[in-house]
Amino acid sequence: MSHSIIGRAMDKGILSLNTVSLRAFSQNSYGSVDDYTYGGGAGMLISCEPVWLAYQEALSRIEQSFDEEASGDRREEKKVRVIYTSPGGRAFDEAKAEELSKEEALIILCGHYEGIDQRVLDRIVTDEISIGDYVLTGGELPALVIMDAVSRRIPGVLNNDDSAGTESFENGLLEYPQYTRPYEWRGESVPDILLSGDHAAVEAWRLTESKKRTGKNRPELLEKWFENRGIF
Ligand code: SAH
Repeated sequence: MSHSIIGRAMDKGILSLNTVSLRAFSQNSYGSVDDYTYGGGAGMLISCEPVWLAYQEALSRIEQSFDEEASGDRREEKKVRVIYTSPGGRAFDEAKAEELSKEEALIILCGHYEGIDQRVLDRIVTDEISIGDYVLTGGELPALVIMDAVSRRIPGVLNNDDSAGTESFENGLLEYPQYTRPYEWRGESVPDILLSGDHAAVEAWRLTESKKRTGKNRPELLEKWFENRGIF
């Protein structure tokens, strides 16, 4: 999170990241937070209390930073959303990233081992999110994926305000192919329409290319795009 675009946004104070280790709230002298699962089966599960205490810690850090920002003024109480990263969650997408980017603060809970005791999840989690249909060893990479996608939607994070608006998924289609200099590269030149200066023709070409690419790589998205326009 300290590199490149997101790193610069953090330096500018647009974003900040705080981490809380579950191990700091271990209930035993070994510093472990996992235990066997009831009902049997392989693998360990993270127990409730370390997650609950880490959640309280995260909440109090958020409240503290809000208080500092509000410089003493009483802030309106607002519920902080808690995202649990899980292959069993709803699929993460650009619409969700946009929705989450409107929040002032987020808590992202990373699982490990087999996951986390359901009771603490039921008590604190507001959104269960999966980043795709595969299983990772922990929620840290999904948390980074979510943070990155959400952060780039926050005003001021990207230099060019427009660029978040023309990407893949914005209009329900994948992005069209793009080209930069040189005009000719190892015998291949840029499609001439892009040099025509005819804005409408360029837009039409881009839409056609977007549809072609979407149909090839993500036919279900193209189908939905047509449906949304009443074309079946
Ligand atoms: N037993 C779980 C998998 C646990 S994987 C199951 O079958 O659903 C360990 C942890 O990695 C999870 O608790 C979750 O936080 C994280 N994780 C793994 N794959 C993920 C994915 N596709 N999306 C989001 N989080 C994931």
